[in-house]
Amino acid sequence: MTVSGKVWRVLERRNMELGPKGEPARTLTHWRYTKDGEGIVWLIFDRAGQSTNTLSEEVLVELNLVLEDLKGLNAKGLVIRSAKKSGFAAGADIRDFRGVTNASEIESRLARGHELLDRLANLSIPTVAVIHGHCLGGGLELALACRHRIAVSGASLGFPEVLLGLHPGLGGTFRLTSLIDPVEAMTMMLTGRPVHARKAKALGLVDEVVEERHVANAVRAAVAGKLKPARPGLKAGVMSLAPARRMAANRMRAEAQKNAPEKHYPAPYRLIGLWEEHGGDPKAMQRAEIRSFSELLTGPTAQNLVRVFFLRERLKSLAKGESGISRVHVIGAGTMGGDIAAWCAARGLRVTLTDLDPQAIARAIGRASSFYDKRLHSSLERRDALDRLTPDFEGVGVRQADLVIEAVAEKEGVKRRVYEEIAPRMKPGAILATNTSSIPLESLREGLLFAERFVGLHFFNPVTRMQLVEIVTHDAVSEETLSRARAFCGDISRLPAPVRSAPGFLVNRALTPYLVEAFLMFDEGVPKEVIDRAARDFGMPMGPMELADRVGLDICLEVARMLKERLPDPMPEVPDWLVQKVEAGETGRKAGRGLYVYDENGKPKREEVKIAEGAQVPRDSETADRLVLPMLNTLVRCLREGVVEEEEVADAAMIFGTGFAPFRGGPLHYARERGVDEITAKLHALAQKYGDRFAPDEGWERLKT
Ligand code: NAD
Repeated sequence: MTVSGKVWRVLERRNMELGPKGEPARTLTHWRYTKDGEGIVWLIFDRAGQSTNTLSEEVLVELNLVLEDLKGLNAKGLVIRSAKKSGFAAGADIRDFRGVTNASEIESRLARGHELLDRLANLSIPTVAVIHGHCLGGGLELALACRHRIAVSGASLGFPEVLLGLHPGLGGTFRLTSLIDPVEAMTMMLTGRPVHARKAKALGLVDEVVEERHVANAVRAAVAGKLKPARPGLKAGVMSLAPARRMAANRMRAEAQKNAPEKHYPAPYRLIGLWEEHGGDPKAMQRAEIRSFSELLTGPTAQNLVRVFFLRERLKSLAKGESGISRVHVIGAGTMGGDIAAWCAARGLRVTLTDLDPQAIARAIGRASSFYDKRLHSSLERRDALDRLTPDFEGVGVRQADLVIEAVAEKEGVKRRVYEEIAPRMKPGAILATNTSSIPLESLREGLLFAERFVGLHFFNPVTRMQLVEIVTHDAVSEETLSRARAFCGDISRLPAPVRSAPGFLVNRALTPYLVEAFLMFDEGVPKEVIDRAARDFGMPMGPMELADRVGLDICLEVARMLKERLPDPMPEVPDWLVQKVEAGETGRKAGRGLYVYDENGKPKREEVKIAEGAQVPRDSETADRLVLPMLNTLVRCLREGVVEEEEVADAAMIFGTGFAPFRGGPLHYARERGVDEITAKLHALAQKYGDRFAPDEGWERLKT
């Protein structure tokens, strides 16, 4: 954000319209209210001790007290507004979702919440929710129980429950589908994607979008009945007919199936079923919603996704503090450097990007520009982001940078020559980071003037999608550099995972045995489609063969060779055909051809599975074990060796760095759930059948505690 933008935001917050000034008529722990001169009660939601409003049982109990009070206040209208800068409310307090097992207890708690929101919805006076910033989940359900919703420009509204393996549980399913076009309502709930204020207005989800300074007037108009409430569109009528709903529901199921199979992610299907069966009958839908939500919340998928939420929080907590970094200089404008530069500029940093090859810089800027077109909302944001990203063929940006990120070719000599050349020109106190995926940092830091300010920032490909950054330490790095590097990840909305500088660090080291095992199976005659299907059935977003193509077969080959050379881990030989493919330029998706052939949209052409004569095609569960257990075994080894210190960080790294089946809550969590004894027994059995590489690591003993 520009300086003037920042100033404006601060002023804007200071000027938030929160009703009459002075002592509130009543102050509770999380709420306070005052009646203004026109008889309008301004109820302010300000959850104690938190920077963001969330709904907890205590918050709702207090709201109930306020509604009791209202009877004696002779109010003309009620306005609900948040005092938090961050927004209206972020939803339920997810801490309350952790470790819950008793569905009937959840049902009765929910029923109390529903009663309360029904009381709010049935008040005879006009009720208005004024929404700024985030209004999500339970927060939106609260707003939906008001007669009017006024959004302040920039607000965003949504139901992200599906991302936690849930659907709305406090009336969202029936209130949203009754208020707006039910198909749009279902899309919002099924995708979890929030909508911005203007879109919300177009959908009829909010009645008006105003600037902050017009809030008081808009509230007055709403209470005076001069604000037209949103009307459901024509489709609501059609969708009140069961056959129409059935057809739409079937389409939704087919769509959901593409990304989230029912056996792993039941919530979307429950939601579709709720609407198909009860759409148009709010009372029945409400009862069914309560039951379904309680069952989902106590089920394994939601519990594991709630765990993933907290894993993310764990990594975020490592990113706290000040990085002191506002200018970044990136050296190497290839796949990684170009995207790192584009991402940093999008997140508000000033970035200079250099390369030996001016064409590479030009290509990277072009890619950045199309990324901004797709991902940034306003033309102003796009322009600002591009303004912050400066092509810098001469490399002059190095002098001003607080952080220099090196992302040149993966060759030790090349990297060290770059350091020799730039180190004397760097600002005192600036950090030098490498994006190397395989070269030990202890070798790279040799002869460096300031080894204590040298660190690994290992981004994952594609940078714009993979949230993880491994923060690679080495023997001479200072604690301050590590903590600034972690905080930098926080600045650019990335999740830092601290790892030691061992070959492959953590994620690539654990991923490689998974990929190489898939190559071996392919060698044995198992069709790639069968291998990929087994991994997807396990819950991976894509199979190992497709993933290898995405990463690049050349890179897979390089990493596999490097790990084999540098580690004592038992690893199978890399098959000859892989070497030949790489030599022939068939390096995967980027080349249009690798293990799969790709169409112009980068989609693999899957062939109908033909099984070679004599090939042994194992059952999918055995195939999945053969793929996944070596990954788990390697993670356990990495924990034992101290490459990563905490189980939670290892789980989080695999989820946010590789997409490891999120509904399983992380690889090590999966191992614990399945049972360490069972896993080690299975590893022994696989070792007997396929070789020593499956022998369980001694680190499993520690997990038994
Ligand atoms: P790339 O080949 O796409 O880009 C490297 C760029 O560096 C090229 O544009 C090249 O012209 C430039 N370059 C080479 N020597 C230079 C020098 N002396 N000064 C300035 N520019 C120079 O490579 P990439 O895939 O972006 O990888 C870059 C680094 O990131 C490597 O260390 C790699 O191991 C690491 N990495 C790659 C991936 C991946 O999936 N590609 C993932 C994580 C980390």
